[in-house]
Amino acid sequence: MHTASATKATVACPHCGRLNRVDLARAADGPKCGVCGKSMPLDRPIRLTDAEFDRVVADSPVPVLVDFYADWCPPCKMMAPTLDQVARDRTGRALVAKVDTDANPGLARRFRIASIPTLIAFKGGAEVGRELGAIPRQRLDALIDRAG
Ligand SMILES: [Zn+2]
Repeated sequence: MHTASATKATVACPHCGRLNRVDLARAADGPKCGVCGKSMPLDRPIRLTDAEFDRVVADSPVPVLVDFYADWCPPCKMMAPTLDQVARDRTGRALVAKVDTDANPGLARRFRIASIPTLIAFKGGAEVGRELGAIPRQRLDALIDRAG
């Protein structure tokens, strides 16, 4: 279904918020936003909001791991360095995204987020698995691999 652009993903620019098509095969080069020209690093978690969630998750040719979190949640803070590591280690081969459940209650409701952090792996826009709470790196890797 993504034969013509199997390495292209849609992500929002962290600076101006506009959606860009980026080539994951060149993710390590640090793609630049086509609108504001600033760099869009893909070697760290990207922020997802209600507005672009479906586009980004459905368009991704690689697994998307979404961390549903809140700023006031200690286990979420514990998970953050692990998510940063996974994003770095899997640059171009997976997208690691974060959804602030306080700022995006619609997404929290839709995915029935009852506790945070909740980590959900998506493939082709569909959920393939989830984990609850702060989990070790191996379980995070296993979750992403289910979407691989
Ligand atoms: Zn931009």
